[in-house]
Amino acid sequence: MPDTPSYTPEVQESIDQNLDTLQKLLPPSGVWLAELNDVVMSWQEDRLTTDEANVAVRRIADRCTGGTSSVTACKEGCSHCCYQAVAVNTWEAERIGRFLQQEPVRFPYSPTPPDIDGMQVKYRGVRCTLLTDSGRCAAYEVRPLACQTYYNVSSYSSLCRVPETEVNTLVPCLDVRILDIADVALNMHTSVYRDIREFFPLNKVCNQSQRS
Ligand code: SF4
Repeated sequence: MPDTPSYTPEVQESIDQNLDTLQKLLPPSGVWLAELNDVVMSWQEDRLTTDEANVAVRRIADRCTGGTSSVTACKEGCSHCCYQAVAVNTWEAERIGRFLQQEPVRFPYSPTPPDIDGMQVKYRGVRCTLLTDSGRCAAYEVRPLACQTYYNVSSYSSLCRVPETEVNTLVPCLDVRILDIADVALNMHTSVYRDIREFFPLNKVCNQSQRS
């Protein structure tokens, strides 16, 4: 598939075609929305722990986005999206830390909402510290929800080349914001949200420090 740096009619056509295919491939939104609602309700009624509910939300995210790479621009080994801000909460950082056997930086709890805009400016074009030199995620199995759900539904990976573009809002993604809302509901009273590079400024597995 040819790459193009701009949002052309061809790009739009590929988005329409891919979304059509994805609609047949992915579970109907009504099904997973009902599951998500059940998870949050169960958590509110203490039938699920926060840990169990967080894992359940990420399983649903997998089902909403799993297999999309067979249709979309996102292919194994592509890491364009690993050069931008990735908001991660404390629960995710601890889980990634256990997976990597590396302690994350621990931040005191604060009810202050995360400065997502500031993160986007600060980390645009900065390589994620979990990205290996072979272009893979060192913690793919437990990667953050933000990474799980970030899929370029066009056929043009060039739209994701953050360092070469002015803004990253050009990337057409699946609209699964409701998963983020559920995530915030589960974690807002116990977690802080920081960019992943702040939790893991140096990845011992990848043996690299922050660099662009
Ligand atoms: S956590 Fe993994 S998938 Fe997410 S930006 Fe970092 S390397 Fe990429």
